[in-house]
Amino acid sequence: MNRGTAKIGRRRFLKFLACVPAFAALGSVGLAKAETQRYGKLVDTRRCIGCKRCMSACKRWNNLEVERDEMITDRETDLTANNWVVVNLLIDSKNRNRKTYEHWACQHCIQPACAGVCPVKAITKLSNGPVVINEKRCIGCRYCFQACPYKVPRFDFEKRVTRKCHLCYNRTPLLNYMKPACVAACPVGALRFDYKHEIIKEAKRRIQQRGGSSYIMGLTEAGGTDMLTILPTRPQDLNMVVAPQKIVNKNLDKIRISASGVMGASVLAGLMHLYAALTREGTKGDHDQSDKKET
Ligand code: SF4
Ligand code: SF4
Ligand code: SF4
Repeated sequence: MNRGTAKIGRRRFLKFLACVPAFAALGSVGLAKAETQRYGKLVDTRRCIGCKRCMSACKRWNNLEVERDEMITDRETDLTANNWVVVNLLIDSKNRNRKTYEHWACQHCIQPACAGVCPVKAITKLSNGPVVINEKRCIGCRYCFQACPYKVPRFDFEKRVTRKCHLCYNRTPLLNYMKPACVAACPVGALRFDYKHEIIKEAKRRIQQRGGSSYIMGLTEAGGTDMLTILPTRPQDLNMVVAPQKIVNKNLDKIRISASGVMGASVLAGLMHLYAALTREGTKGDHDQSDKKET
């Protein structure tokens, strides 16, 4: 046997083994700060006129591709790796005359399921509110999509990473917190950005001022989210996704187990493949040596 080749092979193999726990480490969710220190976004669907300026502003700020026809008013659009926010017209199933424009993006959950399930800790809940994907870390496994109660993070087939709204955390100069691009672009004040406790107060103030039926989505859904939406009725009446009224993280153990199972299986398969390749290398060396001896 070619000892040199085998030794190098084993050393490389052991080094690879040492890296495995880092790859296999599962994500954890940071503790969110109090509502007086966290920011949030308010969406008032009763003011929205469906102009989609928020969508264009998001694309400009984040250098996202504009897809054909998506900016046409009332054209239905879905979240994609290039569409981090969409505005769609919803019809109340109990009152077909009631139509509502819905500005829809990541809800920035207080305890985000997406971050909890990410196997490489690529998603973080920042202490001031935004839930952000580190695209350099993301391995495109899409567990976050599966875990998200709203199915928000979308896979970019070109970049091979998952992408979504980050609440414009990158417009945050140290002492002067700028509004997210979409909020700054809205011409009718349907979007508002402020400390979370302030947007809760603002939502209640608007509801009281305007009267009529209303529902604040995000106070309890998924255990609470830092994006709140004033709707004219309950989300189910508008055929919106209805998230459970509890922290989705409670179900994470199940997802974690299956995520770690799949990860474990793929890591093991990789290790076996590598070991087989190294062993083949060593065996080939032996054969080469014996061939040489014989000639
Ligand atoms: S809405 Fe989905 S993607 Fe956004 S923070 Fe919550 S779990 Fe994550
Ligand atoms: S907060 Fe920023 S990233 Fe999120 S939808 Fe608005 S503009 Fe886009
Ligand atoms: S910019 Fe404002 S009014 Fe226009 S679609 Fe967006 S949220 Fe609605």
